[in-house]
Amino acid sequence: MKLRRYHIWTIGCQMNEADSRHLAAQLERLGLEAVAEPVEADLVVLNTCVVRQQAENKIYGKLGSLRKMKQQRPHLVIALMGCLVGVKDNPALRAKYPYVDVFVPPSGVDRLVNHLLTHVPALSDRSAPDSYDLPALERHAVTAFVPAVLGCSHACAYCVIPLRRGAEQSRPAEEVLHEVSELVRQGVREVMLLGQIVDRYGLDRSDGPDLADLLNQVCAIPELLRVRFLTSHPNWMTDKLLDAVASEPKICPQLEVAAQSGNNEVLRRMRRGYTREKYLDLVARIRRRIPDAAIHTDIIVGFPGETEEQYRDSYRLLEEVEFDKVHIAKYSPRPGTTAAQETDDVSEEVKERRRKELDDFQKTIQERKNAALRGCLLEVLVESEQKGRWQGRTPQNKIVFFEGAESGPGRLEQVRIEWTGPFSMIGKMELP
Ligand code: SAH
Repeated sequence: MKLRRYHIWTIGCQMNEADSRHLAAQLERLGLEAVAEPVEADLVVLNTCVVRQQAENKIYGKLGSLRKMKQQRPHLVIALMGCLVGVKDNPALRAKYPYVDVFVPPSGVDRLVNHLLTHVPALSDRSAPDSYDLPALERHAVTAFVPAVLGCSHACAYCVIPLRRGAEQSRPAEEVLHEVSELVRQGVREVMLLGQIVDRYGLDRSDGPDLADLLNQVCAIPELLRVRFLTSHPNWMTDKLLDAVASEPKICPQLEVAAQSGNNEVLRRMRRGYTREKYLDLVARIRRRIPDAAIHTDIIVGFPGETEEQYRDSYRLLEEVEFDKVHIAKYSPRPGTTAAQETDDVSEEVKERRRKELDDFQKTIQERKNAALRGCLLEVLVESEQKGRWQGRTPQNKIVFFEGAESGPGRLEQVRIEWTGPFSMIGKMELP
């Protein structure tokens, strides 16, 4: 049996995207080639997410169509990877999907590669590649996600991630630096360091760098222009970390600090470990030290028992902080979590109304904040060309389009902002 073409279908977080990119590169090192459709592939990998029911439902749809494909082409190799599989052995899952050839835990790229090397005769003379290449489809990537902390040990009541990704584990700094250097060598100019609580980087190790140290080490890589990190938990945002962001120009002033709710009772029941007041103190601390920082957050609406008044506190948090971006999710009960033992008593209609209200409100805030940038000269790292215009981002991660001038992916340009909307801006490039 030959294994020539692969297709990876990725759903979920940036960590999954990073894992899929790494996997694609390893497969290409083994001589496989990417194809756009699963029907053309000899190996199909589903890299999965179960953070909400909606994500899980998409996987079941895909698995159904793969079952039919496998009936028609018995040699098709199907790998199920990521949070649906989890880090613990799951015999029930294996029994439910007998047509899946291999079950791979989150970030288990090496496990999958080793499985292929031992089970596919045509690959039996190969050894596991050790590289962080950019796969063919991402050959011109300017930005890349790089995992820094795997797993999570913080038991938020609603969240299934610790159950699926296992205990928190910081990658050795040398490994992170090696990956970033390899990516930069191939043209990447901006990396986003990832972790469920990325600001806890290094705390699970007795010695070695913390996140501030790691960021500074990453910044020492020549030709890397920018580094970002996500997601931060409010309790671990040290002054040392904020000072690193304030003092090192390559560290972008973009802080992703998940609030989840603006109400103390809900925060307590979510087991987040801070209060609204403590969160607001952190926002003030960030703004004192990094006045131009963009602050992003995550909010869940419709947590069990969330009253209208408690929800209004989340609305008022958006009003008070004026975030640069808010990811709003409707609560979805996840099996095995403590919140799943409570009744999911906020109706879908109410959840949807709250979600939309926050979304619409946040849109007006972004509209206003971006409008204040009209006429400003902003630094843009160009990522791609879209419909004859260059598309890039500011240090605050705002999307900017500009026309005309000779530029190109990977270049830093100065752009005078002429038009702004809630989600993007348009400007003109200025020569230095
Ligand atoms: N570790 C990050 C979040 C990872 S999950 C943190 O500390 O916040 C990404 C987002 O999905 C979360 O921030 C949360 O807003 C949302 N989420 C997680 N579990 C959820 C659930 N059961 N229902 C709805 N949204 C959820």
